Amino acid sequence: MLRLNRRIFASVLALSAAFAAPAMAQSYPSRPITVIVPFAAGGPTDTVARLVAEAMGRDLSGSVVVENVGGAGGTLGAQRTAQARPDGYTLLIHHIGMSTIPTLYRRLAYDPVGGFEPVGLITEVPMTIIGKRNLPANNLQELVTLVRRERQNINLANAGVGAASHLCGLLFQSALGVQLTTVPYRGTGPAMNDLVGGTVDLMCDQTTNTTEQIRANSVRAYAVTTPTRLASLPDLPTANEAGMPGFEVSIWHGLYAPKGTPTEVITRLSRALQFALRDPGLVRRFQDLGTEPVAQERATPDAHRAFWAADVARWRPVIQAAGQFAD
Ligand code: ASP
Repeated sequence: MLRLNRRIFASVLALSAAFAAPAMAQSYPSRPITVIVPFAAGGPTDTVARLVAEAMGRDLSGSVVVENVGGAGGTLGAQRTAQARPDGYTLLIHHIGMSTIPTLYRRLAYDPVGGFEPVGLITEVPMTIIGKRNLPANNLQELVTLVRRERQNINLANAGVGAASHLCGLLFQSALGVQLTTVPYRGTGPAMNDLVGGTVDLMCDQTTNTTEQIRANSVRAYAVTTPTRLASLPDLPTANEAGMPGFEVSIWHGLYAPKGTPTEVITRLSRALQFALRDPGLVRRFQDLGTEPVAQERATPDAHRAFWAADVARWRPVIQAAGQFAD
């Protein structure tokens, strides 16, 4: 009797879930969607997220609001998303940290891969090596000499272990064979404020954060980490041509929902993401900031799942060999 009741109960549940999913998808969204940015406001992830959220909101006929949950190299915001209700109303825009954090952090309160449903890739962004305005180095060669000579006195800002600025900083230090003091922030928005104010010396960060400061001469720019120069910053040499051969980094951003979010909702979100990435205003703004949206077929759950899995696998041996864990 008890077993029979349980079986009936289970089938009723399964049946109602089957009906509920399409019904939910039809009415979705019926209230504002929150996109968590796991870094402080004013940084590159925040900039990308606000542009994408605004355009997605137009396609979804609803508002998509950004909430900044910075700290611990982007793991706090990711944890908040992984532990949110999987109903399509809490999403995450994160970067390459989604690939490095699973190996960098050996103790996390959430599952850094299995805790999410990928919605799609957004963009790939170059990095720039920049310094405070009165740093006595006029170009990358002079910077290299200065950093080697003054290594005890030069510090490097970043957004915590696992952040893109942290990765780029590691590459920079290893290329120069030095170890600098690093200053972690909740995101590169506040780090940039301190760089402009002259409290920290150096940073390596995405063009979506640095382009306007470079143009305004608020910081010194030494190199961009792409194989060729950027149309948006034509005077800035590549690290390659300025004397650091092979120093190439690009940082991707993706959109995620918590694991268990209904497939219909993920499909709808992916469609809205593709709409956003076709938006002429967004494309123009991205280009002005040194980047562009990925091809539409990469802004899909399957393509991003495959890309992300391959990237996690690519970083795992690199981090393990370096023995550079966050904990
Ligand atoms: N650019 C940052 C990083 O270094 C994060 C941010 O503030 O968007 O990961």
